[in-house]
Amino acid sequence: MSEVLVVVDHVDGAVKKPTYELLTIAKRLGEPSAVYIGPADKASEVTDKVKKYGAEKVYVVDDAQLKGYLVAPKAEALAQLVEKASPAAILIPSSAEGKEIGGRLSIKLQSGLITDAVDVQPGDGGAPVTTQSVFAGNFTVQAKVTQGTPIITVKPNSAAPEESEGAGAVEEFTPTISDTAKTAQIVAAQPRQATGRPELTEAAIVVSGGRGTGGNFEPIEALADALGAAVGASRAAVDSGWMPHTFQVGQTGKTVSPQLYVANGISGAIQHRAGMQTSKTIVAVNKDEEAPMFELVDFGVVGDLHTVLPAATEEINKRKG
Ligand SMILES: Cc1cc2nc3c(=O)[nH]c(=O)nc-3n(C[C@H](O)[C@H](O)[C@H](O)COP(=O)(O)OP(=O)(O)OC[C@H]3O[C@@H](n4cnc5c(N)ncnc54)[C@H](O)[C@@H]3O)c2cc1C
Repeated sequence: MSEVLVVVDHVDGAVKKPTYELLTIAKRLGEPSAVYIGPADKASEVTDKVKKYGAEKVYVVDDAQLKGYLVAPKAEALAQLVEKASPAAILIPSSAEGKEIGGRLSIKLQSGLITDAVDVQPGDGGAPVTTQSVFAGNFTVQAKVTQGTPIITVKPNSAAPEESEGAGAVEEFTPTISDTAKTAQIVAAQPRQATGRPELTEAAIVVSGGRGTGGNFEPIEALADALGAAVGASRAAVDSGWMPHTFQVGQTGKTVSPQLYVANGISGAIQHRAGMQTSKTIVAVNKDEEAPMFELVDFGVVGDLHTVLPAATEEINKRKG
């Protein structure tokens, strides 16, 4: 069975959930091998985690000579690893960094690249066939790579992580990094202040608010905290200065695909839908029963969010307690 490389999504060795989703997808396509590019002293911690989700092999690329640079050295390291391992496919998390790595890798390997897949399944002969939502969510397409090694970036929440014990055989890989790959250097980095909530694009549940909040996001945040969800916002809420742009969901904001999306006081404009309509279950609270968002929902509540959300939050907290 051919290897399928999965680029590990992590922060300083702390593995993030999309990695487990990619390993689960990789298992459908072949034999999952995790590629960890990061501090070598965290490699055994990472290995312990990824082997629980089926990683048969873990390539450890010590980032000592890549650290402090932007993505070019990572793409170079991956290209060399691909030449060595000749995998059947490479799966990369669909973050901004992941997509840039994918683009660079595609040029280096002269291979086809598919970005923002929401599903990947084995097609004829086992080659991966992806599903993507395109043109502001108006079309769902299936695609496959027709040249070279398929490079696929996959959106968070595209698969439910499935535990399955892999061998987790560690193999160290030392790439040769060219000077050209080191021409852009990071001179300072400040981590974003933690909100205590999950990252918007990775969250399993997103609770969003729009103009209908009137600028009071407290009921949205309280419901999000009761559900362990991330908070999102419509552009109207962001343009009004109620929430920062990093919270915006939609065509000119972030694209989310959670298990559950709760839209509150959001009309459901096409540009907002473009960022959330691949969510698995959609719930809306809106006081206008004609709101277009109701065309999209699995469950809808016609009512004032300032009454509905506190009642729902109280009930959820009561049942949790
Ligand atoms: C090029 C372009 C890009 C865009 N990109 C984005 C994008 O990325 N994301 C995005 O969101 N928009 C985007 N927009 C804007 C988009 O067209 C809409 O204007 C925007 O989504 C509207 O936000 P809203 O639903 O919060 O506000 P509105 O359309 O004003 O809707 C507010 C809703 O709240 C309801 N409501 C009011 N009070 C209450 C209450 N008390 N309880 C319950 N419901 C209540 C109303 O019935 C109404 O349905 C873009 C537009 C353009 C032209």
